[in-house]
Amino acid sequence: MPPKLIVFDLDFTLWDAGGTWCDHLDPPFEMISDRIYDSMGAELTLYPGTIDILEELKHECIDIGIASRTGEPEWARELLDLLNIREYFRHEEIYPGSKITHFKRLRNKSGLDYEDMIFFDDEPRNITEVSELGVKCILVKSGISPSLVHSYLTSL
Ligand SMILES: [Mg+2]
Repeated sequence: MPPKLIVFDLDFTLWDAGGTWCDHLDPPFEMISDRIYDSMGAELTLYPGTIDILEELKHECIDIGIASRTGEPEWARELLDLLNIREYFRHEEIYPGSKITHFKRLRNKSGLDYEDMIFFDDEPRNITEVSELGVKCILVKSGISPSLVHSYLTSL
């Protein structure tokens, strides 16, 4: 059975905030020629193929969510808007703290079981915690890629 909900972390999973986390940037953010910069010139970029993955999951009618523990949720939402990808996400759980909270809320809001969810994140501590709930968790080592997502969709 394919998953009913695929959840992504943001920093170092969907995007690279100029080599750091988005809450380490310096707003205001500015869009220049389709590129996003902070006030110090750091550039935030999506990993290659991110839009393709989101489009594909939308086409497959698989719901998409965000679970981010950033310290600056408003900045993250603004960046999602600037990137023009916010519409893809049915669920947004963006606030600091253990991602166990994020997934308990995702379960309550979606009505899905943890076993129906897949989670991609670059931090082992999040993988460890969320795995214990029964969510299938995949460690992302150098940003999300279509091949990484495909390898888990086709193996189910
Ligand atoms: Mg991360």
